[in-house]
Amino acid sequence: MSHLFDWTPAHARRPQTPDELLEDLTDPQRAAVTHRGGPLLVVAGAGSGKTRVLTRRIAHLLATGDVRPHEVLAITFTNKAADEMRRRVVELVGADAQRMWVATFHSACLRILRATADRLGYAPGFTIYDTRDVLDVVERIERELGYDTKRLSPRAVAAAISAAKNAGLDAGRYADQRHDEPLARRVGEVFARYQAALRTANAMDFDDLLGNALTVLTREDDLRDHYQQRFAQVLVDEFQDTNGVQDDLVSLLAMRHRQLSVVGDADQSIYRFRAADVRNILTFAERFPDARVVVLEQNFRSTQTILDAANAVIERNPGRPAKRLFTRGARGARVRLYRAGDEYEEARFVAEELRRLRTEHAIAYHDMAVFYRTNAQSRVLEEELLHAGVPYRVIAGLRFYDRAEVKTALAYARLVVNPRDEASARRVINEPRRGIGAAAQARLAGWAAENGRSFAEAPWHAAEAGLGARALTGARDFAALLDELRARDPSDPRGLIEAIVERSGMTAALASLEPREAEARLENLGALASAAAEYESVGDFIERVSLVADADQLDPASGTVSLMTLHVAKGLEFAAVVITGLEEAVFPHRRALADPDELEEERRLCYVGLTRAKAHLTLTHAWARTQWGQRADALPSRFLGEVPAALVEDISRAAPMRWREATRENRPARSDLGTATFGGDDVPGGRVFGSGTAPAARSTGAELLGLAPGDRVVHERYGAGTVVRCGGAGMQARATVSFDDAGTKQLVLAMTPLRRAEPEG
Ligand code: ATP
Ligand code: MG
Repeated sequence: MSHLFDWTPAHARRPQTPDELLEDLTDPQRAAVTHRGGPLLVVAGAGSGKTRVLTRRIAHLLATGDVRPHEVLAITFTNKAADEMRRRVVELVGADAQRMWVATFHSACLRILRATADRLGYAPGFTIYDTRDVLDVVERIERELGYDTKRLSPRAVAAAISAAKNAGLDAGRYADQRHDEPLARRVGEVFARYQAALRTANAMDFDDLLGNALTVLTREDDLRDHYQQRFAQVLVDEFQDTNGVQDDLVSLLAMRHRQLSVVGDADQSIYRFRAADVRNILTFAERFPDARVVVLEQNFRSTQTILDAANAVIERNPGRPAKRLFTRGARGARVRLYRAGDEYEEARFVAEELRRLRTEHAIAYHDMAVFYRTNAQSRVLEEELLHAGVPYRVIAGLRFYDRAEVKTALAYARLVVNPRDEASARRVINEPRRGIGAAAQARLAGWAAENGRSFAEAPWHAAEAGLGARALTGARDFAALLDELRARDPSDPRGLIEAIVERSGMTAALASLEPREAEARLENLGALASAAAEYESVGDFIERVSLVADADQLDPASGTVSLMTLHVAKGLEFAAVVITGLEEAVFPHRRALADPDELEEERRLCYVGLTRAKAHLTLTHAWARTQWGQRADALPSRFLGEVPAALVEDISRAAPMRWREATRENRPARSDLGTATFGGDDVPGGRVFGSGTAPAARSTGAELLGLAPGDRVVHERYGAGTVVRCGGAGMQARATVSFDDAGTKQLVLAMTPLRRAEPEG
């Protein structure tokens, strides 16, 4: 099962004594849990119980009475992990534990800022701008400044602004530092306006949450005293991925009591692109010379084979201290390697592999995961899993809260709470349509600029802004709608969402859509209202939604395989893991090929991926893949070559997929994929690649059968059936087949192990 926090066995729902909390720990783990007085650093490889130590330590501190719940600040990597931890502590020590702060960095900072941001000039109810909002604002500013958004991509500018903020630079200092670089000068210009726009909108972006929290605590002595006094224990998981601002924050908060516990693994630092600085953990012992350092060497997660594979890969990174990870567990099965012709075949194999793991090893789907390097790779996997009837869930991708109708409803809700939220106002002022087109919006923006007000306040002054008759009516309707929504009871988030959906005209607008689409969207809006019902106030709900992270969507009860990028997989564990797309320029990422630092980061990412697996690990690569709309040959990843050959079983060679055998006779010109020669594991460093040529896209040949409705067919897996419908030709040929025992299936023939049934009688 995907694990976030391990605590006590599920059946143990009684308070535990301090001694009981130590029972199932190793000596070094126990030393870390019982350490008192002064900083603590736990460094250890993956799966050695760092997270367990951290959570157990909190329970132990509470159980011994060494700390009271409200004095604890624990930083976790996801909101879900935080919830889980809080729930378990409540079980242990009772409802009082609710007062503990267990949160992500962003949630903790938000909490501090809700109480203190007035000192920085923010009004109550300020909004958090997410990545999408930020891009919208940047793009609008670029247009205002007359920049070409194709050449100066808003994404790149937003990234540069974010990097500057993480380095502690504001727009002014950024501009000073970089004034002689033409590109940076433009970024600086956008940056200044961007920051001003957020101010006017009473909004902060994610980086501001961290930066402003640090600023307010640094600047305001009384506030700093208050929090420093309060947090007797500060604990941080995944410390290797903190950035400079986060490191400053925890150091500052823990300064008075000096009870700062951090756990992490430098080999798992994978967020450099978000300014994570591995030096924070590497220099911790120097910066806190009195820190107790605990090293954990026993791994409790993976088989020896998986550990050996992971260690062999990470050892290629230069300049890291050697680690000795061992397990008392089994040696386990060899790592399975599958070489596919292209990404479609790879995906079909993955589906097959997941089914095999379930039938042969009785592993539940929710205890399996498929990883890939970039989100775009999930599409083909999804298609094939759908086709094969393997239930799955993509963690991330288009997230629920990113869906258009959900974002629109939320934008109304945000506007209710923060009357100056420009990004939300821009999103919904003419959504659904009220005749407030671009020209009218420009007038409203003009009015706002002239009067030093936010665009979001302009609809109330539409006449003054000089709107034409139709837009004027629309603006008045919009203002009246918001007045009405704002008059509602703020402690009823569900009611607000429902009112938004009904009163804004969203429902009516859905009527113009195709019925099934409209229904799906209505369902999403219903789900949003239900989600809102779980919160005590509109503000709480919006906050939670703003800070939702990818891994928060994991749901062990769902019975589905989890698909996610390697980055999202951090901290999790599964009985079986499949890592796909192990190809040069895919993983390692193309960007890393010429950059040694990036390459090391990719290798750490690989290490993270490999070490998520408890018992079964399968690796795949494709000889050809379509990327950026281009189909190209692909070389196997050097990381494959770094896994010792003795640990690997190449199943594409030894045991080709059953259906390939079954359909061999249908494909006279079939390229011999199964025996393509590539010595990934016998090439030192994996740098020289064998002469394996990438075969052309293959097919099962079933598209050539000339099927017509009524024909009897036999499927490799589903057995006999009757063709119901056919369509398309060649690689596009599809058929609907009603199987005698397996129900009706839609098949893409070129990918389906299907043949005509022998004539009966
Ligand atoms: P990562 O580096 O991936 O974050 P981690 O070091 O945080 O890993 P945990 O997730 O805490 O490791 O533990 C890995 C697994 O080992 C978990 O399933 C945990 O329950 C189990 N485990 C840890 N310590 C022990 C122990 N002393 N006895 C039994 N199981 C343990
Ligand atoms: Mg962990």
